[in-house]
Amino acid sequence: ARPVRMLVLGQSGVGKSALVVRYLTRRFIGEYSAHQEHLYQHTADFASSQVTLEILDSAGDEKDGDRHEANIRWADVFLLVYSVTDRCSFDDCSRAKFLINYNKRRRKITGNATKDPREEAPVLLVANKKDLPGDRMVTTDEGIRRSRDIGCRAFHEISARESIDEVQEVFTNAIRLVRQE
Ligand code: GDP
Repeated sequence: ARPVRMLVLGQSGVGKSALVVRYLTRRFIGEYSAHQEHLYQHTADFASSQVTLEILDSAGDEKDGDRHEANIRWADVFLLVYSVTDRCSFDDCSRAKFLINYNKRRRKITGNATKDPREEAPVLLVANKKDLPGDRMVTTDEGIRRSRDIGCRAFHEISARESIDEVQEVFTNAIRLVRQE
């Protein structure tokens, strides 16, 4: 079967690399070569069989708009990450979701464009760094509400640092959203 292609996006510093590396290695690596795109291949167990994943950890700053749009068109599913300690990264998710829709929809314009949200590429909103309650700037409720408002298919509040289980759940859910379509 065709691989499942995941794009991990969100502002710089929210923990995209920490999340991906935690999933792939089961370890939390505090500082990882930032500001650079990484493509990983991984075989995941899913529904008593195996799925090939291609995970693209995007650079975050999105300086190269064309490249970013090409990445969006490439992907089947999106992990849109913000940090609960960074309101700016949270606010930016609306724009990022709009850009995903815009680029995924464009291809469909010649086909049967519908307003059915299930026709949209699945986006999981991921709130990271919940292990830092003292620095929290975005509540869980705000995250849930935003996720609903911008049409994300799932909301996960996690700590890439503290919980491999939460990280695992994000990726399993992402595969499920693609494979059950
Ligand atoms: P990226 O730029 O989005 O890829 O973010 P990084 O993965 O480079 O992480 C940015 C910083 O946040 C690093 O110092 C990480 O150690 C830290 N970080 C990432 N995830 C977590 C988390 O869940 N909890 C805490 N406390 N720090 C985290």
